[in-house]
Amino acid sequence: MRIGDSACGTGALACRPIGYAMRMGTFFLVIALAWGEPVAQVDPAGAGSSSLPAQLERLVKAYPDLDASRCTPDLLVWKDGTSMPISPQVAGRTYDAQLANATIWDQLLFVYPKGWPFEIPGVNHDPGRLRCDAFFRKVYGATAMDVERQLVRVLWPPAGQGASVPFSSANGAAEALRNVGEELSTLASEIQRYVNRPCGTYNWRTIAGADRPSPHSFGIAIDFTLPKHIHRYWLWDRGKNGDEPVYPAEILDDAAMRAIVEVFEKHGFIWGGKWYHYDLMHFEYRPELL
Ligand SMILES: [Zn+2]
Repeated sequence: MRIGDSACGTGALACRPIGYAMRMGTFFLVIALAWGEPVAQVDPAGAGSSSLPAQLERLVKAYPDLDASRCTPDLLVWKDGTSMPISPQVAGRTYDAQLANATIWDQLLFVYPKGWPFEIPGVNHDPGRLRCDAFFRKVYGATAMDVERQLVRVLWPPAGQGASVPFSSANGAAEALRNVGEELSTLASEIQRYVNRPCGTYNWRTIAGADRPSPHSFGIAIDFTLPKHIHRYWLWDRGKNGDEPVYPAEILDDAAMRAIVEVFEKHGFIWGGKWYHYDLMHFEYRPELL
């Protein structure tokens, strides 16, 4: 069985050759000096905080194509010599503006709350939902064709013998998903029924209701058809007047979902159920956040 095959599109890469890379002995020492002690960064809605130097350190560790010895507090430098600005937050920028055009800084702003239980997310607290487009195009492919070139079939045992889904082989994503599937297949059948119907991995497309690329465009996200009462997405729950949806707090008591989320997180995936703008069926490979 083949699940979740592709759609098509194009895109552009916002990377530039490195003009200056301050060669420093230790990138992390520089960051510590530049920013002082890890500084709590509060999001515009007052909901999130994080220590950026530590998170930048995790980013460099999670993406081996980054050249740690040449990165600076202002610049990510890749081993191929290209670079991209980190672009610290500009005062007064709204959450919507960050979401529409996230910088590396924005991407690292929120700490993802690994584990269970977790606090119901505060307003606009969406750890992992701010994504710097240029960063993902650099790692996984700038165009549909580039991304598709790196897709591999990953066996997904919970969906049955021989079932597989396409996923990016870049940066260890496919390998991580394979490990998740193998581990989930050892769990009880009443848990596996949550993940035995994958309903989308790679799909070169924009996010519903927005014009920015979905993480599915890069082959690093997987969705499942969940039991009906928890198959929930914030946009579907929003009132006719555009009222903000109420977080489905009952999910916190769901032991099967807990078991599944813990396995995904162990292998570097975040879960959309920990976002204010919740997406309970969505898992995404984001090793820098875990
Ligand atoms: Zn998804």
